[in-house]
Amino acid sequence: MLEQTLWYDPSKCFINGAWVAPAKGAQLPLENPSTGASIGTIARGTADDIDAAVAAAQDALEGDWRRMTALERGRILARIGELVKARIEDLALIEATDVGKPLTQARNDAIALARYMEFYAGAADKVMGETIPYLAGYTVYTLREPHGVTGHIIPWNYPMQIIGRSVGAALAMGNACVLKPAEEACLTALAFAALADEAGLPKGALNVVPGLGEEAGAALTAHPGINHISFTGSVAVGKLVQKAAAENVVPVTLELGGKSPQIVFDDADLDAALPFLVGACIQNAGQTCSAASRVLIQRGVYERLVARMADSYNGMMSAEALRDANLGPLISARQKEIVESYLAKGADLRIAGQGKVLDDVPPGGHYLPATLFADVPPNHPLAMEEIFGPVQVAIPFDTEDEAVSIANGTGFGLVASVWTENGARQMRMAKRLRAGQVFINNYGAGGGVELPFGGVGLSGHGREKGFQALYGFSSLKTVAAKHD
Ligand code: NAD
Repeated sequence: MLEQTLWYDPSKCFINGAWVAPAKGAQLPLENPSTGASIGTIARGTADDIDAAVAAAQDALEGDWRRMTALERGRILARIGELVKARIEDLALIEATDVGKPLTQARNDAIALARYMEFYAGAADKVMGETIPYLAGYTVYTLREPHGVTGHIIPWNYPMQIIGRSVGAALAMGNACVLKPAEEACLTALAFAALADEAGLPKGALNVVPGLGEEAGAALTAHPGINHISFTGSVAVGKLVQKAAAENVVPVTLELGGKSPQIVFDDADLDAALPFLVGACIQNAGQTCSAASRVLIQRGVYERLVARMADSYNGMMSAEALRDANLGPLISARQKEIVESYLAKGADLRIAGQGKVLDDVPPGGHYLPATLFADVPPNHPLAMEEIFGPVQVAIPFDTEDEAVSIANGTGFGLVASVWTENGARQMRMAKRLRAGQVFINNYGAGGGVELPFGGVGLSGHGREKGFQALYGFSSLKTVAAKHD
């Protein structure tokens, strides 16, 4: 079924507007996480392919791409968005098969990709500089210019959304991009290149080189021809990327992991909160950077709310992506092992609720049930470390100060939410929480094309999404003209 859906050759790289075999000719296996079966191969790009991609991007910056106005760039992005919309079902099927995410969630990612294109299409010609009062006889103004060649390294968990937010914003500003998707799942990155080509994006403005992180990824981050790096992935690799970028003195955006809390006070509207409390952790089988993997609950409603969350958990099913259950499989056998090691660390904790893996799932798939642990000490590894699986912890607290201290106590700072009807407390908590995004009486795990997104502390630095991303993907030039 997948082969019939693909309309491009997934075993190639996309460089300089053409589909080319990787320079060394090697391929990497690709697995369907729902079954463990092979779904073909992808290019094992290496430093040679990265060299070719960077050279193509540099040429684009000297050619048609550089000459285009912001309006024309925006129109191309709009056309890509239209082509994405026309292929929503194909893209959803490809992503569900490649990543293992339930079809509805994969479809939502494709819809988000189209929305990113719409947003950055409309924004491309609205980035403006300013005029600055200065000395007598001068006129001073600022220009927003592309960095040049931008490198984009993305993970496997939300390929379409992350391409939308990072490549979309970079192209809107006139950069030429080299994208290295994750080796576990890169089919929609290649699909995006095919659609961008069809939409008329000049050759070299977008190049895609699949491959291993330590080969193609490391070659991209160390390449002296790269002028900006956008990295989304783990803290460990983020540190390597920042070190490599330091050698070439180029700016880096790091979108790393999280251990995001939702904080529920006694006065919260529990009916409104319940679907967000559970869903924001469990979507994509918990493999979400902004998964709300900790729920901090004030003592007065603690047992009542844990019982209601447990009911939700007990009804959750894990099954193949195309059966569109609550959860699909984890991405790989290795990821499943990591999550199982955390479940083992929680052996002495209270399991308040747990879902089921359907009996007839393929034995080669990487399934785990959704699990809610209760009464978890705030300093327990399950409450401190990013698990990246369908595991959530409930932690009781008594006072606002205690909630803040627990919430801010992991080193991460990506997203947080506060559930309370007390307006003053909403404002106080929004200021006191250490996070790049704070939601009040809602939670957006990964959502919000328009909303600037990014972390503090171990969750990284720099902002993507929204209009703000356009500043990150450009540099400011000050022009001072003396005319009198
Ligand atoms: P990862 O860091 O292992 O891999 C991410 C990407 O980096 C992949 O493309 C990989 O090939 C590449 N890579 C690996 N080694 C490299 C190296 N030495 N040099 C250059 N590139 C290299 O992360 P993962 O396991 O694929 O993804 C999960 C992590 O990503 C989690 O920690 C999650 O929180 C994080 N994430 C963050 C966000 C965000 O927006 N903050 C979004 C999604 C995922």
